[in-house]
Amino acid sequence: MAVSLFQIFSIGIGPSSSHTVGPMRAARRFITSIKQNGRLHEVDRVLIELFGSLAMTGEGHATDIALLLGLEGELPEDVDPDSVNHRISYICNHHELNLLHKKLIRFEKERDLLFHKGKRLPYHSNAMRFKAFDKNGRELMTQIIYSVGGGFIVDHEQIFAEAAQSSEASIPYPFKTCEELLVHCRKTGKMIYEVMMENELVWRTQQEIEQGILRIWNVMQQCVLRGIEQEGILPGGLNVRRRAAQIYNNLTDPDSPYQNDPAKIFDWVSLFALAVNEENAAGGRVVTAPTNGAAGIIPAVLHYYMKFTESPTLEGVVNFFLTAAAIGILYKEGASLSAAEMGCQGEVGVACSMAAGGLVAALGGTNEQIENAAEIGMEHNLGLTCDPIGGLVQIPCIERNTMGSIKAINAARLAMHGDGQHHVSLDEVIKTMRHTGEDMKHIYKETSEGGLALHVSVSVPEC
Ligand code: SF4
Repeated sequence: MAVSLFQIFSIGIGPSSSHTVGPMRAARRFITSIKQNGRLHEVDRVLIELFGSLAMTGEGHATDIALLLGLEGELPEDVDPDSVNHRISYICNHHELNLLHKKLIRFEKERDLLFHKGKRLPYHSNAMRFKAFDKNGRELMTQIIYSVGGGFIVDHEQIFAEAAQSSEASIPYPFKTCEELLVHCRKTGKMIYEVMMENELVWRTQQEIEQGILRIWNVMQQCVLRGIEQEGILPGGLNVRRRAAQIYNNLTDPDSPYQNDPAKIFDWVSLFALAVNEENAAGGRVVTAPTNGAAGIIPAVLHYYMKFTESPTLEGVVNFFLTAAAIGILYKEGASLSAAEMGCQGEVGVACSMAAGGLVAALGGTNEQIENAAEIGMEHNLGLTCDPIGGLVQIPCIERNTMGSIKAINAARLAMHGDGQHHVSLDEVIKTMRHTGEDMKHIYKETSEGGLALHVSVSVPEC
C-alpha cells in the first residue's frame, strides 16, 4: 500500500498511537461496519478482547478509554480531549454506551472488555477482537483488527487482500528502500521532498498538501504552548511532575543565569519536547509523529529550526515534513513503527531519524546528506528497548524525547559537515534495526515486563 505523509503525521490524542489512536479507529471501524450492514439497531452487546501488548499495557495507555470513545463514533483527530474524562465517567457510572451516538446498549467493563494478558494472536502483538451480539445472544459480527504502530490499523482480512493487490502503481515514484528513493532523485534531478510531493499529488492538490502540512505544524506549536502553560502531576498514579513550565520560566527570566549560558539551546530543545510529551501523557491533542510516544521529537527539532537557525522559512518547514515522511515510510516498509515489534527503536529511534533528515532538508542539504543524517539518527538508537514504568507513556518516554531531539540535531549537523559519503547506509541501518527488534526479547517490547518497568517498583492504581 502506498503511504501518504498524512498517515505518517496525523492529528490525534495522547498517550499512545498504537494503544490509543489505533484502538479508537478500530472500534469505530467495527461499529461503522455493522451500521453499513444495516444491523446497528439489532446490537445489544459488544465484547472487546485485547491481546499481546494491548492486554499488558492497555490500561496504562488508555486503550480502554479509546475503545469506548471509538464505539461511540469518536475519531482521534476530532475528539475534544477536554470532554473525555466526563464522557468516560458517564459510561462507567451508568453502564451505558451510545454506539455511534445512535444506539444505546448496556456496557459492563468487567464483562465486555477483556484483557487477555499473556495471550497473543499470530499476526501482530497489538490485536483486538470485536464481537457484537443481538438481544438473544446471537453473534451479529466478529472482526479482528491489529494496531500496527503509528496509529495505523489493519483488518485480519485486509492483510491477505493487501498481499494480493498492490496500489503502488498509483503513485509516480514508488519506493520501499532509500536506494530506490535516491534512484528516483538521481534520474529526475529532484530532491527527496520534491519526489515525495509528486507522490502526494495523487491524493491532494499542492495547495491542499501545503495547507495540510502547515495545519499539522500549527497543531504542534499549539501543543508546545499548551504544554508550557500546564503544571502539576500527570495522571496515571506514577506522580510524575510536569516540568516544562518551570524550565520555560528559567529560560525566559531575564535574571536567570541561563541567559548567558551558551548551552541553553539544549534546554530550549528539551523544553519543546517535554511540553509535547507531557501533553501526550495527559491525553491532550498531539500530532502522531510517527507515534505518540515519540511525538515530541519532530516538533522540538522544528522549533529549533525556526528559533535557532539562520533564515528559517515556511517552505523549509514543508520540505522538512515531506522529507521526514519519506524517511518514516522507509521504516514502515523495511521494519515497523510499532514498539510492540521493534521496542523503542521503532518510536524514538524512527522519530530521531526522520527529524535528522528533515532538518537537513530544511537547511538546504543534499539528498546524500539527508540520507546520512537519517542513518546517524537511527544508528545510535539501535537496541533501544520499550519498558514504560507502570505501562504509562511517562518514564522513560518523556525524557527520552528530549534525548532523541538533541541527537537528531547532532546527526543533522554531523551530516552537514560532510558530503554525504559514509560507511553504513540508511537501508543497512533499517535492516539492522529490524533484525535487532526481532531478536529483542518480548519483555522489552511494550509489555512493561522488563527493563525499568521490572526494576523500578511502583504501585499504579487501577482506574
Ligand atoms: S519506551 Fe519508547 S516505545 Fe515504549 S512507550 Fe515509551 S516512548 Fe513509546
